[in-house]
Amino acid sequence: MAKASPARKTRTKKALLIGVDFGGTNIVAAVVDPEGALIAKAKIPAEISRGVDHTIGNLKRSIREAADRARISLKDVMAIGLGSPGPLNSRAGIVINPPNLTGWRNIPLRTLIEEEFHLPVVLDNDANAAAFGEFWAGAGLSARKAGKGAQTLVCFTLGTGVGGGIIIDGALLRGPDDTGGELGHCTIDYDGYPCKCGNRGCLETYVSATGIVRRTREAIEQGEKTILFEMVNGDLDRLTSKLVHEALLKGDSLAARIIHETGVLLGVGIANVVNTLNPDIVVISGGVIEAGEHLFAPAREEVRKRAFDCPARRAQIVPALLGDDAGCIGAAGIALDALKGQP
Ligand SMILES: [Zn+2]
Repeated sequence: MAKASPARKTRTKKALLIGVDFGGTNIVAAVVDPEGALIAKAKIPAEISRGVDHTIGNLKRSIREAADRARISLKDVMAIGLGSPGPLNSRAGIVINPPNLTGWRNIPLRTLIEEEFHLPVVLDNDANAAAFGEFWAGAGLSARKAGKGAQTLVCFTLGTGVGGGIIIDGALLRGPDDTGGELGHCTIDYDGYPCKCGNRGCLETYVSATGIVRRTREAIEQGEKTILFEMVNGDLDRLTSKLVHEALLKGDSLAARIIHETGVLLGVGIANVVNTLNPDIVVISGGVIEAGEHLFAPAREEVRKRAFDCPARRAQIVPALLGDDAGCIGAAGIALDALKGQP
């Protein structure tokens, strides 16, 4: 009887993706496999003040460095996804005039990167990329593995501002002007605090890191006792949302109240989205999620109180899983998604 021949080792060329998270401070490029696993990444400063051409050079360099770190050739890459600050035009691949990218005006970023690397390139906004990352390879994937629904997903990113991304039945909601999903600017108080967008009472003005610091500062100025006053040596300009979190861990009652209220206010915003979109899952990302149930319990409670019973019971309100990698992984996922959409 002939000996079974050993399994032939066919070394198929791995088809990979590169996702870029392009921010006003840093550019992070990552090599990502078709299942959404990050293989290697490179982070370099954006250096916006040195001009548009210089920053585009840095962006190209970040892509090459990521490939080097993953020890792959760009020939192994199927497509590149770029997540950029908006406003932008995803169909035309143009970055219009983001406020934190000084000097950028109608830059055809997609074409510039396509011409450099001779690969298909997609451009989308950074908040959409982060939401898609969580949908594809983060909290959404975890929910699907647990047998729960995650095809309609809403993501709130709590940072300096509040970003948002919406995925309906597996597809990003961009809107005709690429302005869909601006969840941070839904109004939760019609006569509330003025927002830099021109509106009043936007969710962002309360639950962003900036909003958390402002509310904490106001309480201290009104005489509330807190260890935060000593933590900043009496200099309230040094307050940060991270310090509020530290004070919470030390059992400070003001910090506990502020984080609880942040959860309630976030819950008001989520309740609006739950009633509007009937999502399977609502993902919250950003440093503030480290507060865990101090934030999530009041948020879920508020949604139960305010939203319709049926969608409120369906919506899983969960922390993001990918941290800062959501943007580059998601940009890669959007690039893969665009390839799949091609005939
Ligand atoms: Zn606003």
